[in-house]
Amino acid sequence: MKLKFQLLKTLSILTLIALTSIQGYLVYNTYQLKKKSLLLDARSSIAKIYTTKKVDSLMWLYRNDFLQQLESYKTKEIDKRQVINNLKRKAKQINTHFYKVYEAELKNLNQPYNIKFKKEVAFISLKDPNNNVDIFINNSNLPIFLIGENFSDEEEILINNSSWTKNHDLFFKGELKPHFLRFNTRIYMSIINIKHIILKQMTGLMLLSCLLFLFVIGLLYYSIVNLMKQKRLTKIKTDFINNITHELKTPLTTIFIATKTLNSKFINNDKEIAKDAIHVINRQNIRLQKLIDQVVQNSLGYHDIYLKKDLFNGSVFIKNIVDDFTLSLNKNIEIITEINLMKDNIIADKFHLTTVIINILNNAIKYKGSKIKVSYKTDKKSHIIKIKDNGIGIPKSKQKYIYDKFYRVNEKDIHNFKGLGLGLYYCDQIIKAHNGTIALKSKESIGSTFIIKIPLS
Ligand code: ADP
Repeated sequence: MKLKFQLLKTLSILTLIALTSIQGYLVYNTYQLKKKSLLLDARSSIAKIYTTKKVDSLMWLYRNDFLQQLESYKTKEIDKRQVINNLKRKAKQINTHFYKVYEAELKNLNQPYNIKFKKEVAFISLKDPNNNVDIFINNSNLPIFLIGENFSDEEEILINNSSWTKNHDLFFKGELKPHFLRFNTRIYMSIINIKHIILKQMTGLMLLSCLLFLFVIGLLYYSIVNLMKQKRLTKIKTDFINNITHELKTPLTTIFIATKTLNSKFINNDKEIAKDAIHVINRQNIRLQKLIDQVVQNSLGYHDIYLKKDLFNGSVFIKNIVDDFTLSLNKNIEIITEINLMKDNIIADKFHLTTVIINILNNAIKYKGSKIKVSYKTDKKSHIIKIKDNGIGIPKSKQKYIYDKFYRVNEKDIHNFKGLGLGLYYCDQIIKAHNGTIALKSKESIGSTFIIKIPLS
């Protein structure tokens, strides 16, 4: 049973882990798909803007200027560094116009998000007719920003890596000769707040998946708690059956022996022995009856208990119970009372309340108490009866169960401490029927204190 339960618990946890992973994977996948579709959409918007005539003519402005710079380079009017600086300057000039066009076109496309765009040049080379190559920028240099917005963030995406190649006539050894130009550019884009946009779109999905997850956890938790409850109940019931069988065995065996004695032909003429046997049978019969009564009477829930309430003096009532109880005790047990004789009257069922107090007092002695203190007082709201013993005490972890029907703390000790686990259940039900409370303060090996409170009115 224990193994089965452990297996069920492990399986439930594994199922939860699997479910979480699958859900996590699905959410992650949805995020990636949404991101892909968003980027594709943004990319096609950029392509649309980039291929407009206005943008194209702007691009030719810096290209033509660059070709002129190359001519000046070839006639040695400027050096490589100046060529690059002039390219930067021209690009900067053009960018102001480009940006205006870009923003207007983007607005026309009516996208629900903002796209950042930038174009940079990463490689420029010029080959003369003798195949000598002049490199203006190579891949080991930092790329030069041309147009767009000079941003850099981890979300930037390369959307185009292209080359502009051209055969262009330039001066070579005093004559115009074709040179081969290679101009490699890259285009990057980034959607502003892309994570935020996607997560916003996925709010419903994530909320639903969280709710579903919580629901499954709740369901599993409820099933496990229920199963544990059932398991505990089954154990308690089995213990009770073992217990009552044990309790019934002694009187039954005694009755059997007494009946056998009565049947024996040797005692036919011995009236004394017969009388004794009949007494034994009677006594055991009463004991059996009491046991059955205890089970039937003590099993009633507080809704089913009929109370016959009287008005009486609380302190006199408690004192009388304790005095009567003390008479039945042996000398090794000490009972101290702390009862101030007060005028306060209590409204309660005398019979049931007496049984409650006697039950607790009996337990105090049964569970090894040798010094018992009973106190009674009232505060603004209630009558307070405290019964304290120095017995074996009740472990903290078991205290919440002691008012359960048939519950016994230490089942292994049933032969040392006889009982059916009904006494405190009965006490709790009676006190509840009086709208009162019963509480326990206890420490193992030190003792227990039961505190009963019954409302004043
Ligand atoms: P029982 O018939 O077993 O005494 P009760 O319902 O009266 O049943 O008590 C429930 C359990 O609470 C007992 O089995 C015992 O383990 C524990 N208990 C009750 N009173 C005391 C006490 N004064 N000291 C220690 N343990 C107690």
